[in-house]
Amino acid sequence: KRGAKGAGGVPSKAAGEHPEYGACARFDELPLSKKTKDGLRKAGYTEMSEIQRAALPHALCGRDVLGAAKTGSGKTLAFVIPVLMSAATLNLGSSLEQEEASECIHCLAEVVSKFPVKPFAAATLCQALEKLYRERWGPEDGVGCIVLSPNKDLAGQIFNVFQKVGKLHGFSAACIVGNRKGLDEEKAVINNMNILVCTPGRLLQHMGETTNFDCSQIQILVIDEADQVLDKNFQEQVDNVVSQLPKVRQTLLFSATQTKSVKDLARVSLKDPEYISVHEEA
Ligand code: ADP
Ligand code: MG
Repeated sequence: KRGAKGAGGVPSKAAGEHPEYGACARFDELPLSKKTKDGLRKAGYTEMSEIQRAALPHALCGRDVLGAAKTGSGKTLAFVIPVLMSAATLNLGSSLEQEEASECIHCLAEVVSKFPVKPFAAATLCQALEKLYRERWGPEDGVGCIVLSPNKDLAGQIFNVFQKVGKLHGFSAACIVGNRKGLDEEKAVINNMNILVCTPGRLLQHMGETTNFDCSQIQILVIDEADQVLDKNFQEQVDNVVSQLPKVRQTLLFSATQTKSVKDLARVSLKDPEYISVHEEA
């Protein structure tokens, strides 16, 4: 059942009612770049899961999303794909293919034009696209997307999905979790990375210690397992991290349960988010 009322007083809207893309069942029906489509196909992904069908049209047009669906339902791809599309739009990565960036901008423009976004959101997105397109981002532009994960195992799994599905894109990505590599080794490479999958503590450490580490340009913040990451155990670290990120960005939150209080959402400043709750019948 979709669109159930969320817990904690958070209203849920019916999800996946996109006039153009709501009925899409396969990834290749979505307006994605050829590299993303090919990457998905080669990784063996063709049919979308429920959470992917419901979340992707919203996330792809730049809206904030709060998605809840049980473990194993495919939440990772629901944010990996928008991140890849955003990074491609920004022309991040070593391949620097203008054609690819234009194609992605076209895809985004198509989604926006067919989606009943509020004028404010559409205008903001168009502005951002225009600006980035004119600025022609290059590899030296550094980190564009940050994914926060509560622990190194989950971060590693997310990183693997980025590598698999993003294989044909030229982006650099790193898993910054605190023990896979030494701190010095991370410091040496982190400024050349476009996509970071991190645990909150280690990211904060780099924000404090790593010379020239700059997150002021990030376009997308993803918080996976949001109920854990926004838990009080991480509160100080996460609030500190978020305070150092730009306010104008897209934020995607995913978790197994939709129990987020309005207070928690305010901490990460979600803007007019789409609440998506998928509970597939067992
Ligand atoms: P969650 O984060 O919701 O727990 P994952 O993103 O880890 O779920 O996905 C669970 C499993 O389902 C993974 O093995 C993943 O490869 C697989 N999977 C995800 N989406 C699809 C899809 N559209 N088609 C086939 N398999 C999928
Ligand atoms: Mg997951």
